[in-house]
Amino acid sequence: MQDIDVDVVVVGAGGAGLVAALAATDAGASAVVLEKEERPGGNTAASTGSVPGAGSRWQAEAGIEDSPERLAADLLRQSGPHDAEDLVTTLATVSAPLVEWLVDKHSVDLRLITDYKHVGHSVPRLHAPPSRKGHALVADLLRAAKAADVEVLTHSPVDRLVVEDGQVRGVVVSGDRSGTYTLRSRAVVLAANGFGANREMLRQFAPQAVGLEYLGAHGSTGEAVRWLLDLGASMANAEAFQGYAAVASPHGSITSWTTVEHGGILIDGRGRRIGDESVGYSGFAPAVSGAEPPVHVIFDTGIRDSVAAHEEEFADLLAAGGVKEAADVAELAQVTGADADELARTLDAARAAAAGEASDVFGRTEWGRGPLKPPYAAVRAIPALFHTQGGVRVDEHARVLGQSGPIPGVYATGGVAAGISGRAGGAGYSSGNGLLSALGLGLLAGRHAAG
Ligand SMILES: Cc1cc2nc3c(=O)[nH]c(=O)nc-3n(C[C@H](O)[C@H](O)[C@H](O)COP(=O)(O)OP(=O)(O)OC[C@H]3O[C@@H](n4cnc5c(N)ncnc54)[C@H](O)[C@@H]3O)c2cc1C
Repeated sequence: MQDIDVDVVVVGAGGAGLVAALAATDAGASAVVLEKEERPGGNTAASTGSVPGAGSRWQAEAGIEDSPERLAADLLRQSGPHDAEDLVTTLATVSAPLVEWLVDKHSVDLRLITDYKHVGHSVPRLHAPPSRKGHALVADLLRAAKAADVEVLTHSPVDRLVVEDGQVRGVVVSGDRSGTYTLRSRAVVLAANGFGANREMLRQFAPQAVGLEYLGAHGSTGEAVRWLLDLGASMANAEAFQGYAAVASPHGSITSWTTVEHGGILIDGRGRRIGDESVGYSGFAPAVSGAEPPVHVIFDTGIRDSVAAHEEEFADLLAAGGVKEAADVAELAQVTGADADELARTLDAARAAAAGEASDVFGRTEWGRGPLKPPYAAVRAIPALFHTQGGVRVDEHARVLGQSGPIPGVYATGGVAAGISGRAGGAGYSSGNGLLSALGLGLLAGRHAAG
């Protein structure tokens, strides 16, 4: 083998790539991270930065009993059976050590969220920056990368893999600013996320997501998945994605799903309920996509105020005028443009179901704080695609699997790899699955690649 330039090349400077580089340097290897965009962060910066850690010491301090087995059981309940169930166990097992390593070894500020349970989880177990903004997570990871002498090169789009005798031995970078050059390495970690920004790949692999507006980072264009398919890898859980049923329009920020978990409902342009909202924000996105617009999330001012007190992004939406208030049903009909009689019938039926006086026509049984009470609050909402979850099959070290075992020299993380959200489009996604498969596989890949 010719001389190498660096031990581990990482493609993509989001959470997965930065974690992979830190894990590799912790194990004594040198690492370079290549990012095609002008700044690092990718989808990780756009996220709320919430990472599951099942059995973490902060859970123990808060008296929350949890374990990798419990996390795996929760994730599989939400996803249903799928193509990568071994990966669920692998990632559930690494989840708490991942969060503790980030905090203890690299001073990443992550705190256990105890004020609500996330979609798909039976106990509070997500850990997030205090601001609940992914930017803060990325800033901490970049600081740690700098301290570990990891070079992060922006404006550096990787164009293809260097493959010799069936082994991946580096990458070719080709960009307007970087020019074209080859970087040779012992291992390449593909942390380039999925194909949410690539319509053609969505049509091919995740057709349920095609009608949703893509609100993730621009860099998720799927080329890393293509390179691996060309090398003989195969897709698993290809259809899966994280959707969001209620992006505030026109503000573009998310309408916290806590408003719905506390008892809110979603109505269509005429004022009719759309379905059982308790399937979660991701699973509900296709239903919103098929509904008569404009769709609104309806809750009450009590819910509004309590969510705004806990969630900065929702407080920002409120301050920006994205949450309308209505004293009664007639005013709510005006605010939303819905038919007043239809809306009154909808609210009556929802109230009766939430009070336990009648069964819900859509089968919803969880109503949070119970029936909504006037004054009401409403947010106009559109459905969106945040990221794709399916990708290529990997083993327990994040090595990419070809037709006869791991393809030497190449690892996949996050949206490049098979995710843990099943095969049911947006319905199998549990909160935190995106960052768990990104950061968890990043840690495993970086460690193994260094070895
Ligand atoms: C609004 C929103 C909220 C979310 N909230 C959460 C949450 O709280 N918890 C959770 O688990 N998930 C959440 N997600 C999903 C989560 O953001 C992603 O699953 C996760 O960030 C993926 O991390 P990553 O490092 O794999 O990818 P990214 O962070 O997207 O990083 C990949 C990087 O690779 C770069 N890249 C791509 N191709 C190339 C190339 N050829 N050459 C060089 N660079 C390349 C991209 O530009 C990008 O910067 C959310 C997503 C959104 C949009």
